[in-house]
Amino acid sequence: MNDSNRRHDPDAEAWSLATRAIRVGHHPTPEREHGEPIFTTSSFTFESAAQAAARFAGDEPGNIYARFTNPTTRVFEERLAAMEGGEDCVATASGMAAILSTFMALCRAGDEVVVSRQVFGTTNVLFDKYLAKFGLVVRWVDLTDWAQWEAAVTDRTALLFIETPSNPLTEVADIRRLADLAHAHEAALVVDNCFCTPALQRPLELGADIVIHSATKFLDGQGRAIGGAVVGDAERVGKEVRGFLRTCGPTMAPFNAWIFAKGLETLNLRMEAHSRHAGEVAEWLVAHPKVARVHFPGLSDHPQADIIAAQQSGPGAIVSFVVEGGRKKAWQVIDRTEMLSITANLGDTKTTITHPASSTHGRLSPEARADAGIDEGLVRLSVGLESPRDIIADLARGLG
Ligand SMILES: *Cc1c(COP(=O)(O)O)cnc(C)c1O
Repeated sequence: MNDSNRRHDPDAEAWSLATRAIRVGHHPTPEREHGEPIFTTSSFTFESAAQAAARFAGDEPGNIYARFTNPTTRVFEERLAAMEGGEDCVATASGMAAILSTFMALCRAGDEVVVSRQVFGTTNVLFDKYLAKFGLVVRWVDLTDWAQWEAAVTDRTALLFIETPSNPLTEVADIRRLADLAHAHEAALVVDNCFCTPALQRPLELGADIVIHSATKFLDGQGRAIGGAVVGDAERVGKEVRGFLRTCGPTMAPFNAWIFAKGLETLNLRMEAHSRHAGEVAEWLVAHPKVARVHFPGLSDHPQADIIAAQQSGPGAIVSFVVEGGRKKAWQVIDRTEMLSITANLGDTKTTITHPASSTHGRLSPEARADAGIDEGLVRLSVGLESPRDIIADLARGLG
């Protein structure tokens, strides 16, 4: 059979995102398997001592040891790199390992980094408790306050780090403007693209240098495994971040890589449905008499609606809202729901509901929480793929 028109290593740049998500990265073995196989092996063998030497010297590409590369992990990496528009991608054991690996690989003691205050809680701890211990100087700024960014970014700055939209208030930063600011000081912009995923926002196309993912969230989308990824250029990500991974070892397990590679295949469809369902829920909440405020990137009165229109192709799944009556009332709303999952996790087919002030932001002092805009009456949803009618019925029960 002539197989010459079947291309398993095609020019993915010609493909749209939906096709890349399904077709990139799978290079079948001589068994001609249709589905991506899982290589549960710690190491790989060589045909000869000479081949082993060539592999170790880097003169011949190929696998050596699964801390360095694994074919299943490589499927996920190639696929996500193609979707984000990056030259390379390095898979990591978790989203936190992706952030750690990036800063360990690209910064040295004495470097300054500028980080938005509105980042994932554990990211906060990583910078303040661990990276600072090794001499990294961390400057915290407000995500949406341009004057603070301009004042904090100097020629001593190595990296800028943001999450947009932020958790839980869905504040949004102008990625292109921050990338220009970074580049004017020969620094690089790192964007945690967890909330949007490449299906809704591609920071590299907007000028950012590196994209971080917690694959645990929407990339899997079904709450099955912990993983992360760093996407960017061949030098900083392909060489430096991968070098850190090879040496220090927070690599992704092949079984998890298989879950995430298969998750990517449906990412477009899921993000479109998450966005649509979240939009219905947000509109319903806006009209509810007991809801004082709704935060959602899809609302026309969002404070950064112009930036959202320019850089996001959809609002995503995260909706938060404030009920009058503070913590007592917020807890009552959560406890009265029957279907929604009470968990701080997000990015699942199942809708999740949480009280940020006593969970994700519980470590902060009451003053710091107030500064961060985390109201005691704030409830956060990650709207899932159940019928919006059933999600809304459960929220109606919660709001009483
Ligand atoms: C969950 C999360 C992380 C951390 O990812 P893990 O996979 O839990 O290590 C980082 N950033 C954001 C925005 C997240 O939601």
